[in-house]
Amino acid sequence: MKILILGGTAEARDLAARLVRIGHEVTSSLAGRTQAPILPEGAVRLGGFGGAGGLSAYLRSAGIVRLVDATHPYAATISRNAVVAAQTSGVPLVRLMRPAWTQPEGANWTVVETAAEAAAALPAGADVLLTTGHTGLAEFLGRSDCHFVVRLIEAPELPIPPHARILQSRPPYSLEDEMALIERNRITHLVTKNSGGGQTAAKLEAAQRLGVKVIMIARPAYGPAIEVSSVEEAIVALAL
Ligand code: NAP
Repeated sequence: MKILILGGTAEARDLAARLVRIGHEVTSSLAGRTQAPILPEGAVRLGGFGGAGGLSAYLRSAGIVRLVDATHPYAATISRNAVVAAQTSGVPLVRLMRPAWTQPEGANWTVVETAAEAAAALPAGADVLLTTGHTGLAEFLGRSDCHFVVRLIEAPELPIPPHARILQSRPPYSLEDEMALIERNRITHLVTKNSGGGQTAAKLEAAQRLGVKVIMIARPAYGPAIEVSSVEEAIVALAL
């Protein structure tokens, strides 16, 4: 089958490798923003399609028979475009998304919908570990009555005010390191997206153990698709 994978995640690369080995004709699509992306097996195309209409046109012209949305849970625009493009082109859409984290018993989570809501939920004087990435960063930095340790993989382009410090690093993170980071910076609040997966989950355990409040930005909603949460399930769903 000719399969298009909307990628940019480790799960998308795993799926591409498995489908190529099975003998499918796989193209992975990457947004093209990362400077040196890890390339998946099979064909790769870089850059946007020009909205849902462009993606729909691509599906038809390339003869794609299955579309997989294996993008990051917070890449909401491309995921919503995938839903519309699948509906207009008639190509079945499988959404491969790692399961969300769930609040363990005894943990102190406040769940909000947006970065703006998360920023507003911080009390004055909070010492914040901010792990929500580049999107919405300005909303948080506007809170000059709080202190921020902003953990990012790549340095931000916007100017960083004196009440914030950038910590550039790359997952995975261990429980021991997360606890040390929280203690060293006297963190009172952790602000995070619900990315799921094991690579960045230790911060939640560390927060719970150290009595740090968690402000969790919930996942966006995208619309209907065949939802699966593992590469194995995706392979089964694609064959139907
Ligand atoms: P987004 O806001 O949902 O998408 C913005 C636009 O970028 C889309 O409308 C689309 O342009 C283009 N685009 C996004 N993903 C694409 C893909 N896989 N192939 C082709 N075009 C794509 O996306 P985002 O949050 O900026 O994320 C961009 C990419 O980075 C995603 O592929 C995602 O899997 C990966 N990623 C994101 C995060 C995160 O936290 N958001 C974390 C890790 C990896 P057109 O409308 O022109 O088609």
